[in-house]
Amino acid sequence: GGTLRLILGDQLHPHTPHRPHPLLADLDPARDRVWMAEADGEARHVWSHKARIALFLAAMRHFAATLREAGVPLDYHRLGRYPTLEAALADTLARQGGGIARVTVLEPGDRRVLSGLAAACRQAGVALEVRPDPHFFCTGDDFAAWAGDKPQLRMEFFYRWMRRRHGVLMTTAGAPAGDRWNFDGDNRDAFPPDGPGPLPPVPRFAPDGTTRDVLDEVAATFADHPGGLEGFAWPVTPAQARVLLERFIADRLPYFGRYQDAMWQGEPVLWHSLLAAALNLKLLDPREVVDAAETTWREGRVPLAAAEGFIRQILGWREFVRGMYMRESRRRGDAGFAHSNHLGAERPLPAWFWTGQAQANCLAQTIRQTLALGYAHHIQRLMVTGNFALLAGLSPRAVADWYLAAYVDAVAWVEEPNTLGMALFALGPVMTSKPYCASGAYLKRMSNYCAGCRYRPDQAHGPRACPFTALYWHFLDRNEDRLGGNPRLALAYRNLARRSPEERAALRAAGEAMLARLDDL
Ligand code: FAD
Ligand code: SF4
Repeated sequence: GGTLRLILGDQLHPHTPHRPHPLLADLDPARDRVWMAEADGEARHVWSHKARIALFLAAMRHFAATLREAGVPLDYHRLGRYPTLEAALADTLARQGGGIARVTVLEPGDRRVLSGLAAACRQAGVALEVRPDPHFFCTGDDFAAWAGDKPQLRMEFFYRWMRRRHGVLMTTAGAPAGDRWNFDGDNRDAFPPDGPGPLPPVPRFAPDGTTRDVLDEVAATFADHPGGLEGFAWPVTPAQARVLLERFIADRLPYFGRYQDAMWQGEPVLWHSLLAAALNLKLLDPREVVDAAETTWREGRVPLAAAEGFIRQILGWREFVRGMYMRESRRRGDAGFAHSNHLGAERPLPAWFWTGQAQANCLAQTIRQTLALGYAHHIQRLMVTGNFALLAGLSPRAVADWYLAAYVDAVAWVEEPNTLGMALFALGPVMTSKPYCASGAYLKRMSNYCAGCRYRPDQAHGPRACPFTALYWHFLDRNEDRLGGNPRLALAYRNLARRSPEERAALRAAGEAMLARLDDL
């Protein structure tokens, strides 16, 4: 029998005559077949944004067309036949019987999918071969070797190791370019009071016939799902992804690092790249992205700080969170990882997470934008919705399901470590040294949201108390046992300790009152 080659919806690496898809390099067209399936359950196991479903399906169908044109034997199962990938595969294996000797797949980005596929193969008595995904710079084993049994892993050290290992932004003498690893000091400004000024146009990719069919089908099949499809303009092919990269390098890279942490009402994209979705579907190779940024700096077209700030995100953070996902799900078990909850947070999500009907302006803006576009930039995700969820003690699992549902670029390996590990501190100090907790003062400094808000960022109690400020003190207070000894929170705890017992009681009461009416914030 031949090999059945499974290609999942986020494994759409370009397939060209010169460079075949990594699972197809040793394909024997006489005996092997490629297998792809659109399983309804992949959109439903969490309640996924319509644009996210449409993006996956449109990219999959374009990819399938490329394979067919290249004469690759392909079984493609469309939406509506199978609830899950596991069921689809089990059915194929049962029908083909002894015709299939082996199933091969690149390592899935979601451990839940891997165990489903493994179960289907086991039941059919067919061997499953899982190959590493060459998309990533760093394999799971490389990361595990780097991490060893260190209880705390820091992105900065991983990033330096990656820079050396891959010779990125290094001098010929082996030193970091510009003699520094890190230009954060030159980056992370807020916008001036009159705002970001003129911004380059956002690249848009008009849907072709294939994508329009998908949009109609998603609108009909997933009508009750959150989000809209109007203005859907994401890249769905490798060629479009490359155009997006070129436009980013030319138009936005110069200011990316400098304004990476800044927010501005009504400007969802600012200087960000929008590349995550194309990268996560594997339409784009991260090496190409890193090379493009480095070359642009070497040619003197952007400052080093700009190129470094961007490369750190791709070569550093993106690879780091993936390594973290693989390592921690092995160590804790898949379910243990998915349900980690270091701070014991249990509150349900306020209903306005699904409507954007919050009174707190920063939350309303960020969530409405997310529901409209399936996109928010990193600081909105980390310091608005994420920070709120942390301060309010929302259940990490419920929050992680929301992020998985809400963003077009969401895939478990990147969404879960970011949400559980980075935003909610649910993995404990393994990934970040302290929780990213911040009061309204931070949001006031980094955005113009507060000017249009009924709350006051500097007030912790009273009718105009900012939920972030009130809940910040409550968060520190209620987690003092767990976090009070953390040197990076020493200043915050000294601030709390300076308050009189009466003041502390008043802060606690204000926080309690806030927590009792989360649905009305
Ligand atoms: P840019 O701001 O232009 O950044 C460039 C690229 O760097 C991104 O495209 C991405 O590939 C990479 N990158 C930057 N930060 C990170 C990071 N922390 N982790 C991994 N890659 C990073 N990213 C996802 O791709 N999918 C997710 O589901 C996802 N969920 C997140 C959930 C939370 C709570 C947080 C705090 C962050 C999450 N991120 C996720 C990381 C980051 O916010 C997005 O990658 C980024 O906002 C996507 O927009 P962009 O492509 O315009 O990124
Ligand atoms: Fe957000 Fe508080 Fe500012 Fe309102 S005052 S926008 S709730 S930080």
